[in-house]
Amino acid sequence: MTLRLKPVDAVIIGFGWSGALLAEALSSAGLSVVALERGRWRDTAENFPPSRAPDELRYAVRHDLVVKPAENTITFRNSVAQMALPIRAWGSFLPASGAGGGGVHWNGQTWRFRPSDFTLKSDTIARYGKRFLPPDLSIEDWGVTYDQLEPYYDRFEYICGISGKSGNLRGRIEAGGNPFEGPRAREYPTPPMTMPYAPTLFAEASRELGYHPFPQPSANLSQAYTNPLGVTLGACTYCGFCERFGCGNYAKASPQTTLMPVLRRRKNFSLRTECTALAIDHEGGKARGVTYTDASGEVFFQPAEIVLCCAYTFENIRLLLLSGIGAPYDPQTGRGVVGRNYAYQTTSSVALGFDGKLLNPFIGAGALGTVVDDWNGDHYDHGPLGFIGGAYLAALATNGRPILNHPVPPGVPRWGASWKRAVAKSYLRTTRLLAQGSSLSHRGAYCDLDPNYRDRFGRPLLRLTFDFHPNDLKMSHFVTGKLAAIARAMRPDWMTIANREAPYSVVPYQSTHNVGGAAMGADRGSSVVNPYLQSWDLANLFVIGASAFPQNPGYNPTGTVAALALHASDAITQRYLRAPGPLA
Ligand SMILES: Cc1cc2nc3c(=O)[nH]c(=O)nc-3n(C[C@H](O)[C@H](O)[C@H](O)COP(=O)(O)OP(=O)(O)OC[C@H]3O[C@@H](n4cnc5c(N)ncnc54)[C@H](O)[C@@H]3O)c2cc1C
Ligand code: SF4
Repeated sequence: MTLRLKPVDAVIIGFGWSGALLAEALSSAGLSVVALERGRWRDTAENFPPSRAPDELRYAVRHDLVVKPAENTITFRNSVAQMALPIRAWGSFLPASGAGGGGVHWNGQTWRFRPSDFTLKSDTIARYGKRFLPPDLSIEDWGVTYDQLEPYYDRFEYICGISGKSGNLRGRIEAGGNPFEGPRAREYPTPPMTMPYAPTLFAEASRELGYHPFPQPSANLSQAYTNPLGVTLGACTYCGFCERFGCGNYAKASPQTTLMPVLRRRKNFSLRTECTALAIDHEGGKARGVTYTDASGEVFFQPAEIVLCCAYTFENIRLLLLSGIGAPYDPQTGRGVVGRNYAYQTTSSVALGFDGKLLNPFIGAGALGTVVDDWNGDHYDHGPLGFIGGAYLAALATNGRPILNHPVPPGVPRWGASWKRAVAKSYLRTTRLLAQGSSLSHRGAYCDLDPNYRDRFGRPLLRLTFDFHPNDLKMSHFVTGKLAAIARAMRPDWMTIANREAPYSVVPYQSTHNVGGAAMGADRGSSVVNPYLQSWDLANLFVIGASAFPQNPGYNPTGTVAALALHASDAITQRYLRAPGPLA
């Protein structure tokens, strides 16, 4: 039996960054808001108090803050010719569960996309001609511009207290920042973090080669900071256990450390944890609310005037498909939109070691390091190179975790006594450089409902079909060559280049930057949501998150996820509430 609850103005599915930002904005406008979160409540310090030694096995290796595959997983295959199998141990990416979502255990590398990223398709055609684009790419313009999103990037950076140095202040290029970024209205709220040795060597080598190094914009704060909502965060201690952990110092921006103290005091907001949304109910072209089940197994219906689906890329797509909202994408005909435009991130790396230098990788954070953006986006001529896209290149002192984070010299076995000896010898003397590359959506990369495997509630799992497109591999090899050149200029005693190759594997960790599947756009024929992330089919349903990206540029996604969420929240409070209906 389903228990019908008292109606509210807005119900939010998922309480990560997307859900929390919407909850704050809508409840501050006076709406009654309920958020449903499948995982449990947690404080970031509860999982990782500063007084206790970090448990790398529990959190980093066994993924304690991540959804258990037995509770919910996805099936995977590289192409339609294969049968998809369920992922039974997370590897390539780590879907979150629990209050705060991935915002608790993310690194905090907080980027804005470039202006040209939002108009990739039209800019590429205008510059290189239509024939330059491989025919099976399904890239699209976003329907929103950088200039429209700039105030929302700014608002998110100030909610978090991001530490960084501007490179383009109102059109003026600034020394020490990223000269390729879009113009920003004001400086970062806090100064950059202090650079450890390896990123300093990387910066020197990049400068030697004529590049433009700058500090990674970071949600691990360089100093204590009070945000515009009056919430104070602490300063990062460079503890080295950041990614995959909560922060015991309240120094990493997360929904708990930036928004929750305010939300807690609002009587018109409530968060219901251990509540899993099963479907978005709709009738007559309108969402009616959400059916969900709690930890006891009881089923409820929460009626609401507005439904906000903020359940991360995979669950956003699955809930749309399970609820029969929008036309599912068919890769054979190319018709349909839900599940179309899935994309990922094309990463590669170079490991290097120095016999005579102590790099001390235990001095680390999630978003600590030096970056060059010279080979990202489209500010260099792609014509002779024969691909589109690019990557940022970085030396990030990301986590000093001794179990997982230890490059060893070439030729050393991956296990056993000689591996242990090599780790003990090289741990303090090694670092790894990263290329974080773009991923273009293409016809064969998509999500649909699996015909064979079901979850514990008997609902089909989501099926992911994905492989790297030749364009992305070509791009990745090119930027990895540039990364290797910087590595050589650092004059290491040894280095190992890890190029990205097909087929894509779900086993080694790459990034939790899964995007698309409920893509945004100005044309309803090729998108699921409009530029305000409002469903084309149900005007009172908003689908928020990286699921809206039509493809993925060469940056981490969360700054843009947040900017899009805040852009949507303004459209809801300033326009939709006055005249409920389509906003575009
Ligand atoms: C290890 C790691 C490191 C990362 N580092 C970075 C970084 O440095 N920079 C960056 O930009 N990004 C990073 N990311 C990605 C970043 O975490 C995500 O982009 C961001 O958290 C997305 O926020 P979200 O609210 O859209 O989704 P999520 O944070 O995933 O939140 C969605 C929430 O919905 C809940 N949910 C799902 N399904 C249901 C359901 N049916 N019912 C109820 N609740 C549901 C989930 O439990 C979850 O809490 C990282 C991710 C990981 C895992
Ligand atoms: S590295 Fe800094 S922000 Fe990250 S968990 Fe440690 S103290 Fe917190």
